[in-house]
Amino acid sequence: MNTEKLSQRLEAVANYIPSGSRLADIGSDHAYLPCYAVKRGIVPFAIAGEVVEGPYQSAKRQVKMEGLDEQIIVRKGNGLEVIAPGEIDCITIAGMGGALIASILEEGKNKLESVKRLILQPNISAMTIRQWLIDNGWELKAEEILEEDEKIYEILVAEKGIPFKPYKDLQKELLLGPFLIKQLSVSFQKKWRNEQKNWQRILTQLENAAQSEDTILKKKELNEKIQMVEEVLNK
Ligand code: SAM
Repeated sequence: MNTEKLSQRLEAVANYIPSGSRLADIGSDHAYLPCYAVKRGIVPFAIAGEVVEGPYQSAKRQVKMEGLDEQIIVRKGNGLEVIAPGEIDCITIAGMGGALIASILEEGKNKLESVKRLILQPNISAMTIRQWLIDNGWELKAEEILEEDEKIYEILVAEKGIPFKPYKDLQKELLLGPFLIKQLSVSFQKKWRNEQKNWQRILTQLENAAQSEDTILKKKELNEKIQMVEEVLNK
């Protein structure tokens, strides 16, 4: 991967950046995504935010090497603290867990006033992000799922709006994604068949354990999730 040719995952994220946006890429690592977006003329300006010294230095090196210092500012800091209020209208956060992405958004809420679009790519637990979006007045606009190097990734795109709009069966759609359920793609089916197998394995272990209140509750939850996924995959 480089700034000419992104991974399929990051390219899919870049495809959702509205042309002409002022972008912040949080957890930017090598700043590949903002460099690509500026070089392709998708955005005129970007901030690459990084909290860890090593990746922050890599981002600075990459931006300098590409001669993009005028258009991309690399800032070191935690989550959205690298953005000034009103500075940005699109945020990308990719390659982290859903809970971390949701906590970055939660802690940086005061920076989201001017932001029109969030493009979020959790490696796990997209459900936590969907719940955060609902709780905070963001409407899910699109979802994508793709497989690369034997890993399956989800991309969630949200804008300020009516948070409950795409949801009809909340529990099911929070877990699996309202758009992804409709698309029922091969990657989606593969991901949830794998999850089902995992849950089934845990269920078997729990069947063989001492039956405490906790065990019984956990088994109930797992059975419900297996059933929920079965209904979606078999529709
Ligand atoms: N976004 C790139 C991608 O998708 O390929 C890099 C993903 S990398 C796995 C996650 C990056 O996020 C790391 O460089 C890590 O240091 C950074 N990170 C984690 N928590 C962060 C936070 N709270 N604020 C800013 N950066 C963070």
